[in-house]
Amino acid sequence: MRNFRSLCVYCGSSGAVDARYRDAAVRLGTMLGEQRIGLVYGGGRIGLMGLLADACLRAGGTVVGVIPDFLRRAEVGHGAVTELVIVDNMHERKRTMFERSDGFVILPGGLGTLEETFEILTWKQLQLHDKPIVLVDIAGYWRPLAALIDHVIGENFARPEMRALMTVVDAVDQVLPALEHAGAPRVGPEPELI
Ligand code: AMP
Repeated sequence: MRNFRSLCVYCGSSGAVDARYRDAAVRLGTMLGEQRIGLVYGGGRIGLMGLLADACLRAGGTVVGVIPDFLRRAEVGHGAVTELVIVDNMHERKRTMFERSDGFVILPGGLGTLEETFEILTWKQLQLHDKPIVLVDIAGYWRPLAALIDHVIGENFARPEMRALMTVVDAVDQVLPALEHAGAPRVGPEPELI
């Protein structure tokens, strides 16, 4: 895993969810910590985000949280991460998370997670980056999303190749093999994002 120095994880800020989702966040955080792959995430202490960051830190990992100043109170900015980057707004948050990571992993989450997922997918569709994206479909949580994408393709609003923009796995231990299979992103300056 030498090529993946840090991974960005998108996941829910809610913690009042099925134990399988919570468990996946803890497992992923632990795995990144143990593999010494830096975690980049939204910087909160609540929900799956907090479980993920705490687990990574407990396993000896490095955690970079990126949070807009106005959200620090609402999402309870994590006080113990390796580095907490305070940004001005959501756009800067997403750009910073993008720039500081070599790939993206998506756990179950809500509207914020969906927004982040679609943005990173559409940037890839527009060839603004070629970093790997892995969707972790814990307990079939993302099945409706996969069905929606199939529908969009079926109605000719996207090409079937769109499916190749991300890899879908159904367990946390498949994340690193999927990233390795997808390959490291190209080396060179970041393209200018829209
Ligand atoms: P959620 O999946 O809704 O629990 O949110 C997960 C994370 O996404 C939280 O840190 C939210 O602040 C963040 N988020 C919510 N809306 C947006 C947005 N429009 N752009 C970027 N991040 C967002």
